[in-house]
Amino acid sequence: METVALRRGLDHLLDNGLHVEVLATDRSTSVKKIMRKEYEEVDHQFDIWHTAKNIQSKLISKSKKRGCAALKPWMRSVRNHLWYSAAKAKGNVETLKSTWNSVLHHIIDEHTWTEGGTERSCHHTPLTDEDREKKMWLCKDSEAYQELARIVLNTTLQKDLENMGRFKHTGALEVFHSSLLKYAPKRQCFSYQSMKQRTNLAIMHHNENLTQKPKLDSEGKPVIVQEWSKRSKEWVTRKRYQQNTVNFRTKLMQLLLERRNDPTVIFRDTSSTLLYFFTSTSIT
Ligand SMILES: [Zn+2]
Repeated sequence: METVALRRGLDHLLDNGLHVEVLATDRSTSVKKIMRKEYEEVDHQFDIWHTAKNIQSKLISKSKKRGCAALKPWMRSVRNHLWYSAAKAKGNVETLKSTWNSVLHHIIDEHTWTEGGTERSCHHTPLTDEDREKKMWLCKDSEAYQELARIVLNTTLQKDLENMGRFKHTGALEVFHSSLLKYAPKRQCFSYQSMKQRTNLAIMHHNENLTQKPKLDSEGKPVIVQEWSKRSKEWVTRKRYQQNTVNFRTKLMQLLLERRNDPTVIFRDTSSTLLYFFTSTSIT
């Protein structure tokens, strides 16, 4: 289904004259193949979120192995390091690779090293003795380190890093999917027409809340809370955001009543989605 949707979606955009410069997806092998063979002109980038999630699952599973528990305190840092490396790359794949691979030095308390005759160092500020004492550094000959090295230097991952230099991620799409679930729950079956309109509602909901404002306390500072993450099994800090607004619904109801009272009314709303919603729905 994914490959059918990909071809249909992309062809639809291209046929309508839209210039698609970059497409970010997960690292599905079938999608990789289609993009390489059929859409050479589009730069195919891999979503950092999916890749980081994949690395984290590998780390969780390896940390359960005998002699690899030492990986546990590092899992979050390794995942964040991938985000950091991609953000710092600014399109340069070599920078991305060397920053990502540097984790194998940092984790054994080695912050400057020589690579191919070049002096390299971690990007962080020099660590104090106190900082160093707090960290649970790995030993280079430990099983945990060997497992980490296998994950970091994995051939497929190293190859895929070449398609991650532009730091693309589908975070906004994930947020859209979660708002789509409110309008079209997966447990219910909808007709094609209904699904289309429900998707339109989700689009309007999403667009209205594109810029989420942080929740502020009485002193005007952002509210940050500590929460237990069931997935990573550790305490994490999260910023609280203001509740989403749904003002578009009131607007829709007003338009609906206006149209109901006078069928000759033509909506001239600036939002094309709103127009689409009405032009493709029969209101009687
Ligand atoms: Zn370091």
